[in-house]
Amino acid sequence: MIVLKFGGTSVGSAQRMHEVAQLVSFSEPKIVVLSAMSGTTNSLVEIANYLYKKNNEGALDQILNLEKKYFDTVNELYKTDEFKAKGKELIQSHFNYIKSFTQDMFTIYEEKAILAQGELISTALFHFLLQEQGIKSALIPALNFMRIDKDNEPDLFYIRENLQREVKEQEQQSVYITQGFICRNSYGEIDNLKRGGSDYTASLVGAGINADEIQIWTDIDGMHNNDPRYVENTHPLSHLSFDEAAELAYFGAKILHPSSILPAKLANIPVRLKNTMQPEAEGTLISSITGTEGIKAIAAKDDITAVKIKSGRMLLAYGFMRKVFEIFEMYKTPIDMITTSEVAVSLTIDETQNLSKIVEELQKYGSVEIDENLSIICVVGNFIAESKGYALKIFDALQDIPIRMISYGGSKHNVSVLVNTSDKKAALQALNEKLF
Ligand code: ADP
Ligand code: ASP
Ligand code: MG
Repeated sequence: MIVLKFGGTSVGSAQRMHEVAQLVSFSEPKIVVLSAMSGTTNSLVEIANYLYKKNNEGALDQILNLEKKYFDTVNELYKTDEFKAKGKELIQSHFNYIKSFTQDMFTIYEEKAILAQGELISTALFHFLLQEQGIKSALIPALNFMRIDKDNEPDLFYIRENLQREVKEQEQQSVYITQGFICRNSYGEIDNLKRGGSDYTASLVGAGINADEIQIWTDIDGMHNNDPRYVENTHPLSHLSFDEAAELAYFGAKILHPSSILPAKLANIPVRLKNTMQPEAEGTLISSITGTEGIKAIAAKDDITAVKIKSGRMLLAYGFMRKVFEIFEMYKTPIDMITTSEVAVSLTIDETQNLSKIVEELQKYGSVEIDENLSIICVVGNFIAESKGYALKIFDALQDIPIRMISYGGSKHNVSVLVNTSDKKAALQALNEKLF
């Protein structure tokens, strides 16, 4: 069994869906994970925001806009009147559901149910398309097997048991279709794996079904050595290790959801990144093979906040770090970078919901400073020999960029620096010129 995930752009129009149908028409059984058509989840977020602010007119405007796009897609997608009618009926029922919130009560719980409509629609439309083309296929609803626990972590045992049951319950198919992104939480409510989460679905599904390979099909020919949105002349990498790919994903390479490599790594299932627009391109293979030494790629993660705790008296006392970490643990806030000196400790976080409470607690131990609008620039590779001067090369490239923090030696795969987000683009470009 292999798993193929197609992102928003890859299913973003009737023509693209036809191309995907072509790509999955080989005979080996497979699970196809689909995102919502591009732009849909953003529109649904806006609709939910309007509803939340009780601007029902604004919401209805957006809903009608989106509904029209889908009716147009359906007209183009199917050849026969039978499937055009089925498609329209499907769109109507999903949009009637969304519209019902402009009449009824809307709470934060319904927001997730609205966001789920994008993937529910794209998978149903694609299932009809395969049926119209006579390709044997079945829908397996993600809401029946994808679940997160009370800490918002995937419940691997539940996913495996229920996914395998869902697949077994269907007769032998060529294509099993399921929704990316959406899941249920520990209360059984509709929830999701956060933005870009379809990649995460694909690797959880791959691990749950013991797939031979997980393929992530997107709009670019693999993982590039730098962020193509900010830097020119980047190039695709033919191979990465799980650890290198995980660092890049976690530190901002948007092509992969931050958590999507771990399930594949734990199950030792290779992940292949492929381009839907250019299927013949080699793409990137991510596997347990470590590969050659050296600097491979650069990524950047935005919306970083630095927290500095200054305390002349307490800092060097043993137990101080534990107290600091416990505060972040208490508020379920992960720490990304950390540096210490004689008189202060600085660390970075990217989740700030509980920042004011964290600061209040930290102030018991010293003065606290907060710095916002920062970016972590992460240089990833295989740095086996410390003697090769990797750090020197990196800092030489960054000589004109003010650096707020440095992290080196945390792993053999990552050197990170913290800069102002306004300097991010210049930093990425300077590193590109000097390192590659
Ligand atoms: P999908 O909708 O298929 O999930 P995404 O937009 O989430 O696609 O991810 C693909 C995009 O990731 C690319 O179009 C590219 O702009 C961006 N990206 C950022 N960093 C990288 C990188 N290092 N290599 C390749 N693509 C990257
Ligand atoms: N549709 C979701 C999003 O836009 C999930 C995904 O595309 O991976 O975030
Ligand atoms: Mg994505």
